[in-house]
Amino acid sequence: MIFHQLQHELDERATQGLLRQRRTLDTPQSPHIVVDGKPYLAFCSNDYLGLANHPQLIAALQQGAQTWGAGAGAAHLVNGHFEPHHRLELRLAAFVGKPAALLFSTGYMANLGVVQALVGKGDTVFADKLNHASLNDAMLLARADVQRYRHGDMQQLARMLERTQGGRKLVITDAVFSMDGDIAPLPELLALCERHDAWLLVDDAHGFGVLGAQGRGSLAHFGIASPRIIYMGTLGKAAGVSGAFVAAEQVVIDTLVNHARSYVYTTAAPPALSVAVLQALQLIEQGDALREHLRRHVAQLRGGLEGLPWRLMPSDTAIQPLLIGDNRQALELSERLRERGIWVAAIRPPTVPQGTARLRITLSAAHTADDVERLIGALHELAC
Ligand SMILES: *Cc1c(COP(=O)(O)O)cnc(C)c1O
Repeated sequence: MIFHQLQHELDERATQGLLRQRRTLDTPQSPHIVVDGKPYLAFCSNDYLGLANHPQLIAALQQGAQTWGAGAGAAHLVNGHFEPHHRLELRLAAFVGKPAALLFSTGYMANLGVVQALVGKGDTVFADKLNHASLNDAMLLARADVQRYRHGDMQQLARMLERTQGGRKLVITDAVFSMDGDIAPLPELLALCERHDAWLLVDDAHGFGVLGAQGRGSLAHFGIASPRIIYMGTLGKAAGVSGAFVAAEQVVIDTLVNHARSYVYTTAAPPALSVAVLQALQLIEQGDALREHLRRHVAQLRGGLEGLPWRLMPSDTAIQPLLIGDNRQALELSERLRERGIWVAAIRPPTVPQGTARLRITLSAAHTADDVERLIGALHELAC
């Protein structure tokens, strides 16, 4: 009977155009992929700089495995903490201008760990309504009080902070909103945190490597720094590998080492991955040309899609969502593109709010101007 219930729920999802399915790639990540035997031009990865399949990263990973083996074999606090982990943490901290950093196996785990280690019962988390699911899950897990403010609404956040007395206060936000592409008003957020003695957790999954001088991320983009900022960056998106890190004051990092359950109770990521990320950091640092390429694609796409019946959401970043609204219509458009050999993911609730289904177009430095032109042409055809 329980299987019947599950099947029924899945069938319901399907009729609402909400059933999720996976497709299998037969080639490495790149703008040109083969999926289930068919070639596609893809606009949906988060590999913004085209590093996921970069020969220097592949070589570093191979050399890392040669030197350090395949697996870490234990948690960091047992005997799974290796020299490349240590070296990478020092390098990441310096790169984003923080005293210390800590590696996590994924960004999802980093967010769970940070929030749960820093706040609990009697404390309050203030969260943008459009934050990533991992931040939302983190605050539930932490059992702190939760106050969610309207997307980017600093006045509402200010009122919430004023009204809240006692306990620790933690404001959490995506720096670049993952499904919208817009950038959080970090200077204003920091000012509010200063005024109300709150911490600010910045999730820079989509800014690290892409924004700021030398790709140092969203804090560098705005030129802001403060000990009360806790910075989280991921290493599986622009950095092209896997994992995440938190950078903060030493006392915060020491607290995470002791209390972040998603750090303590899990096997360390293979040290070879850290060797690859160290190589990725060098490419990121020297990657001004890649970032310039990406910026040109953004301008080309935004110019090229003017006049369509669907609107590109306001965004200067590599995430360029085309708002469709209806779930099935978004799915249908994604399907029509796919028939033309172009792969763009349709994003539907609950990942985004009801009535805001969209095509999440993401651009990469690995795309060519011709690739972008092909997408523009296909969308204009489908609009007729
Ligand atoms: C992708 C993402 C994460 C999770 O990072 P993973 O390393 O993929 O687990 C966290 N926050 C945001 C905003 C993201 O887009």
